[in-house]
Amino acid sequence: MGKYYIFQDQKRCIGCYACELHCKTKNNAPEGAKLCRIVPTGPQVVKGVPRMHFVFMPCFHCEKPWCVYACPTGAMTKRAKDGIVYVNQDLCVGCKNCITACPWGVPQWNSETGKVMKCDFCMDRIDQGLEPACVTGCTTGALKFVSPSEASQIKREKFAKDISPLKK
Ligand code: SF4
Ligand code: SF4
Repeated sequence: MGKYYIFQDQKRCIGCYACELHCKTKNNAPEGAKLCRIVPTGPQVVKGVPRMHFVFMPCFHCEKPWCVYACPTGAMTKRAKDGIVYVNQDLCVGCKNCITACPWGVPQWNSETGKVMKCDFCMDRIDQGLEPACVTGCTTGALKFVSPSEASQIKREKFAKDISPLKK
């Protein structure tokens, strides 16, 4: 199982797109390429007020990654020590098989290098004891870099809080 997970607290997210901006800057992503995305949904009426929701989408670093199986050169790799899926730029030949294979549209075409780039949780930063750029740059603290078990604990606690008024 992968070691890391980016948890988004949707109640804190204000849709400012700072995460996308910090990601693009850190990774030198050319125009059109997004290594993480904010997907707006709504508007939905909450307590009589129309509200937008913003869903944060990085790579899921899948347990069995379609992109890795589709790559003919071994450039798309799952790092053994923590399950991060990344592109070895030296081996990428720009065939775009991974772009086709990923159901979520995560791998991005880099028109400047003629190769693919993707979210690698900023693994160079992780290796220095830092967090991914999107998490550090989030203006409201809506993104948290956690382990999958911490993420599920947060979700269980939130669920318990949400249903507690129903128990009274
Ligand atoms: S790029 Fe797509 S298939 Fe590959 S690990 Fe990420 S979400 Fe999974
Ligand atoms: S574009 Fe690069 S990373 Fe993607 S499948 Fe082809 S060689 Fe692998």
